[in-house]
Amino acid sequence: MNSMKVLIIDDDVDSLAIAKLRLRKDGYIIQSACNGSEGLEKARTDSPDLILLDVQMPGKSGFEVCEELKSTADLCNIPVIFLSAADDISEKVKGLDLGAVDYVTKPFDIFELRARVRAALRTKRLQDLLLMYGEVDSLTEIYNRRVLMERLQQEWDRIQRKPVPLSFIMVDIDKFKLVNDTYGHPVGDKVLVSVSNILSQSIRSGDIVGRYGGEEFGIVMNHSTAAEAALAANRYRVEIEKALFVAKKKEFSVTASFGIADSIGRKSIDELIKGADAALYRAKETGRNKVCIDTL
Ligand code: GH3
Ligand code: MG
Ligand code: MG
Repeated sequence: MNSMKVLIIDDDVDSLAIAKLRLRKDGYIIQSACNGSEGLEKARTDSPDLILLDVQMPGKSGFEVCEELKSTADLCNIPVIFLSAADDISEKVKGLDLGAVDYVTKPFDIFELRARVRAALRTKRLQDLLLMYGEVDSLTEIYNRRVLMERLQQEWDRIQRKPVPLSFIMVDIDKFKLVNDTYGHPVGDKVLVSVSNILSQSIRSGDIVGRYGGEEFGIVMNHSTAAEAALAANRYRVEIEKALFVAKKKEFSVTASFGIADSIGRKSIDELIKGADAALYRAKETGRNKVCIDTL
């Protein structure tokens, strides 16, 4: 629980040493930097959960560092607590208006600082959960449909001026209703989690898998024609077929059907998805547990 990372950016050696020592005792992983540029660098490379930021530093001031953090997409969600010897109201207001969550005056009381660090990290944890659950399907913990479609759009935009294809694969578990009806919904849920694990562990890095709907998944496969994607899909199909489940003292397995379309000759994402859907329909119609490609 306490393995959260705190980055302290402070040129004041004594206050840095005290904060480091005490917070390390509280179980946090402490990183430190003694000027703004080094601090920004560490924020980028070490992805801390919280930054304690001194205001008065030679070179970049803490306020400048905070502005840079808040205007950088990957860093703007890291909470910042300012540490400052200046305790006039206007400085505090300025710091908080720059996006800091708190402002502690130096010399700080270590008990107060520790409590404020705990409070900021409590909020950070909730924020991380909110971000995660906005993107991730809560059962399978892979991307939800909205994010899958956003990522497909990004990849589609990326290839518009390039002669590289991408493929979209639709996966649908066969006769899944029967699994629920035979073994119950909770067992069905376990099967969904296993199939999504198989898919996410099998895809190449750079490819994207998400839950498209109930027992349907979508995969965006970069740099692949439908024929290339079909080779990979066939491997995923075999992995799914091989997985064994146990329920009601019986062993059982499931199969899945795959429909694939690639971007070659298609004008929109809509056409791409419709193609994959049509191919999936054909896989179902012609016996299930197979991979079909949509031809234009
Ligand atoms: P087909 O081979 O034609 O795809 O048949 P199917 O039974 O898989 O298809 P159908 O669309 O008839 O049924 C899908 C079932 O998936 C029905 C629904 O209750 C189940 N389902 C959808 N979401 C979930 C879920 O989150 N958990 C569980 N356990 N079942 C789900
Ligand atoms: Mg379905
Ligand atoms: Mg199905």
